[in-house]
Amino acid sequence: MTQSKRTKLVHGGTRRSQYGELSEAIFLTQGFAYDSAEQAEARFLKPSEDEYIYARYGNPTVRMFEERIALCEGTEDAFATASGMAAVSGALMSMLRAGDHVVSARALFGSCLYVLEEVLTRYGVDVTFVDGTDLDAWRDALRDDTKVVFFESLANPTLEVVDIAAVTELAHARGARVVVDNVFATPVFSRCAEQGVDVIVYSATKHIDGQGRALGGVILGSREHIRGVVEPYMKHTGGAMSPFTAWVMLKGLETMDLRVRAQTANASAIAAALHGHPKLARMIYPGHASHAQTELAQRQMGAGGTMLALEVQGGQEAAFRFLNALQIVLISNNLGDAKSIATHPATTTHQRLSEDQRAGLGISPGLIRLSVGIEGESDLVEDILQALDRV
Ligand SMILES: *Cc1c(COP(=O)(O)O)cnc(C)c1O
Repeated sequence: MTQSKRTKLVHGGTRRSQYGELSEAIFLTQGFAYDSAEQAEARFLKPSEDEYIYARYGNPTVRMFEERIALCEGTEDAFATASGMAAVSGALMSMLRAGDHVVSARALFGSCLYVLEEVLTRYGVDVTFVDGTDLDAWRDALRDDTKVVFFESLANPTLEVVDIAAVTELAHARGARVVVDNVFATPVFSRCAEQGVDVIVYSATKHIDGQGRALGGVILGSREHIRGVVEPYMKHTGGAMSPFTAWVMLKGLETMDLRVRAQTANASAIAAALHGHPKLARMIYPGHASHAQTELAQRQMGAGGTMLALEVQGGQEAAFRFLNALQIVLISNNLGDAKSIATHPATTTHQRLSEDQRAGLGISPGLIRLSVGIEGESDLVEDILQALDRV
């Protein structure tokens, strides 16, 4: 019987101890004791399934999380990491060496941009940045020595959609492998595996926890890639997820589908209420007919997702007045949370960039990023409308 994502998110990967506990156990241990010296030797030589050596390599609670998220994503395996950035940097560093070429979309989360622009280049990797929505730009940038293509499927914060299937086809035709940071699209609306993506990365801090508690990340792909390429790099460089975090993330996965669908329904309602509002220069929501790529978003994710961007008329001063007038929506820089959150990218998440870089990415002084939570729909719409009145 093939199970739905919803069922896998509740039961997948569960390991029960001799006590038969209902809720997943936290194996808060860094090491494991062996019955004999011979057993220790054999395990170091080749641990079999569900045999553990040291928590930097693996742990039963972490393994439950890895199996559950891999079942959800439809990949053979996964490696859990200490944060989303440990996943992004580990996914890339484990695949690349000096002299390799990478093509990346330009519109990236600030820390992703740092890894590609400042870290990889320091180790002799050549990186070309392109407009992720322009298939000709991808085609022109790909070379015979291109090893990796990297992009965020929904760009932060302007919510441009990268055509996963088309970019993957172009990359594979040139022998490059595709790494997608799929945080904004969420594992709920991901079809990356069937679209041919080789390596999928999430910050579990976002929709997977979804309740603002813990930092975490995960790298997903084929068993050969995860155990042969990712694991050796991660287990020796130290970016492992803690067993406690894995337990928080397991409990997050149980309710993730419900939360993300409720957040998406709220986001659609907010988009409908704000479309054409006189105080807004732009309202960007991939699930709304006014988004230039709404068909692609629909085809790729089957939904508009949990994130919106608004550009208020009147620049930074108006944006700050809007933020300060919000009563339910919180000012923060997290996203994917049960609580609705508003962010001013130009002065926070993208402050490090020059004004020119920000302008190139569409991050204007009036732009607000909205991560929609699970609160009551009419409360959120009312809160945002009353804050716009104060602009
Ligand atoms: C938050 C985020 C990350 C980094 O995740 P952390 O858990 O904060 O390290 C990477 N990519 C995207 C798109 C993100 O939103």
